[in-house]
Amino acid sequence: MNHLHRLPKRLKKDSTGIMKRILVYKLLKLSPECKERLALVSSMRKQGYLYMRTDKNIEIPVRRLKQIDNSVTKYFVCTYCLDQYSKQFLYRYVRICKQRPATAERGSRNCLARSQTFLATLKSKNQDFLQSSRIKEEVFGLRRADDISYTAKSDPLICLYGETLLKKHKRQQICTTVSNKMREIARMLIALRDISSSVHMFFDAMKPGMFQDIITATKVISGYD
Ligand SMILES: [Zn+2]
Repeated sequence: MNHLHRLPKRLKKDSTGIMKRILVYKLLKLSPECKERLALVSSMRKQGYLYMRTDKNIEIPVRRLKQIDNSVTKYFVCTYCLDQYSKQFLYRYVRICKQRPATAERGSRNCLARSQTFLATLKSKNQDFLQSSRIKEEVFGLRRADDISYTAKSDPLICLYGETLLKKHKRQQICTTVSNKMREIARMLIALRDISSSVHMFFDAMKPGMFQDIITATKVISGYD
C-alpha cells in the first residue's frame, strides 16, 4: 500500500471502504498491461466472489460441477488465493497454488477442513470469538469436512459449548471428545431444521415451545422408532 502514508490517521483505521478506494486508486495509477495491475484486478475479483458467497450465498467457482451434488458445501475456498473449487479440484489445485506461502505444510492434507473452517469463521456471527478460540486450532481440523462439521463450525452456541468443554479439561484426548460432542449437537440441529422451519441456529431451539421438537430430533438421530 504505497499510498497509505498520504492518508490521515483517522482513515487508516477504517479497513473496509477506504481500503477498497485505495485499491482502485492504486489500480488506476498502473498501466493497463502491467502484471501488477492484472494481479490486483484478479485479487479484487476473488474478494468480490468471496463476498457474494458469504453475504449473498451465490457461488462462483473456477469450474462448475457437472454432476448434481446435494451437500451443503459444493465448492470450497482455497485459503491462500480465495479461488473456489469443488472438493476434488481443491485437492489438486491447493498443491500448485501460486499464493501458497513457503511455510505452509506440504501436500493437500487437511485442505478441506481448513477451507471449511475459514468459510465458517467468515460467515459466523461470533467471528471475533472464533478468531481467538482454541477449538479453531485444536478441534476444527480433526474431522472430515462434511455437512455436519460445517453446521457445528458455523453455529455460535455449539462453538461456545465446545470451547467451554475444552477449557474445563486438561487431557490431550479431550479434543476428540469435544469434536464428537459438537458433531452430535450439529446432527441434532440438522434434524431440528428438518422438523421446524423456524430453527436456523441452535439458539432458536432453546425455547420451552420447542420441547416436543427436540424430543423428536433426539429420536431421529438416535434411530429410535
Ligand atoms: Zn489457491
